[in-house]
Amino acid sequence: MTDTASTTPGATAPSHPLQFSLVPSTSKRVQAERESILADPGFGQHFTDHMVTIDWNIDGGWHDARVTAYGPLMLDPASSVLHYAQEIFEGLKAYRHADGSIWTFRPEKNAERMRRSARRLALPQLSVENFIESIKQLVAVDGDWVPSAPETSLYLRPFMIANETFLGVRAAHNVGYYVIASPAGAYFHGGVAPVKIWLATEYSRAGRGGTGAAKCGGNYASSLLPQMEAHENGCAQVLFLDSETGTRIDELGGMNVFFVHGSDTLVTPRLTGSILEGVTRDSIMQLARDRGMTVEEREVTLEEWRLGIESGDITEVFACGTAAVVTPISQLKGAGVSIGDPDAPAGEITMALRQELTDIQYGRMPDRHGWLTRLDA
Ligand SMILES: *Cc1c(COP(=O)(O)O)cnc(C)c1O
Repeated sequence: MTDTASTTPGATAPSHPLQFSLVPSTSKRVQAERESILADPGFGQHFTDHMVTIDWNIDGGWHDARVTAYGPLMLDPASSVLHYAQEIFEGLKAYRHADGSIWTFRPEKNAERMRRSARRLALPQLSVENFIESIKQLVAVDGDWVPSAPETSLYLRPFMIANETFLGVRAAHNVGYYVIASPAGAYFHGGVAPVKIWLATEYSRAGRGGTGAAKCGGNYASSLLPQMEAHENGCAQVLFLDSETGTRIDELGGMNVFFVHGSDTLVTPRLTGSILEGVTRDSIMQLARDRGMTVEEREVTLEEWRLGIESGDITEVFACGTAAVVTPISQLKGAGVSIGDPDAPAGEITMALRQELTDIQYGRMPDRHGWLTRLDA
């Protein structure tokens, strides 16, 4: 705590519950337009009528929490985020239940992670309470944008940027926190289909002491070139190994990875500092334990994956994250590497865990772990 305070004084001062003001949009989409967007929203293409803004500065801390019309930000060209990428973000979803109510999933985990990301990027920490309130405030005005078709949701994107007009290199003294929201269609059209993934051998996502465990835009910027390489090779996503030895599995560009051994053991790489701690990852481990499976967080090598598929010990491989929930992996490809069968069907345990998680999120199954928070009441 003290070292964060020394880079950004006041950054960790306890923040009081903020009062949000509302200036409603004067250009809200009419119902017909909203409904036509919600009928086929895609992902990340359409945005709701409003957004949340909370300002922070070094002297006054967090202030001016407000809900206003969605629209462009005014940024000075010298704004520090544009030069030094002092930026973090979160991603979570609002789900509509059958009775029309609106819920989100473990938002306190996202709030806590955003505080850890903020610390690493020398940004101020917003309290868990204010983070959750910011989401409630946005959903209170834009609740009609939460779709109701199966597997659809309203994707919530809180983010924080350094917006001080200053080219010197230090933690910014002015920061903005925002929340925008985007309706999201079912990730898989026509059923969940296994994907092929590409092994990055030339590029790393994160190194020792780096920002791999923080959810920051910079991590994504560095993953885009290998991601292009993946696409060129017919793969949906890129897998990164640890940067020190190039032998251990870290994670995909934006998803964590799991291995099913036999029918009763679930294995995922342990958090080393270069892996992002997914909320989905944590939830999947809990659901697996609930089913009586043995869950292991440990080192997983590329060699173990290869041998495990060859011997039949590894029976299923999947990736997980908020956007796609759980995605079966059929094959890993790379320069001189091919593990698994591109035509392999989705695994049974993979699909059962996916079903159970979405059943809880959509209120089709009891929320036995208290994971849901109601947003519209
Ligand atoms: C966000 C993210 C994940 C998944 O986290 P969830 O909380 O499950 O959505 C995994 N890896 C990276 C690099 C991420 O940015």
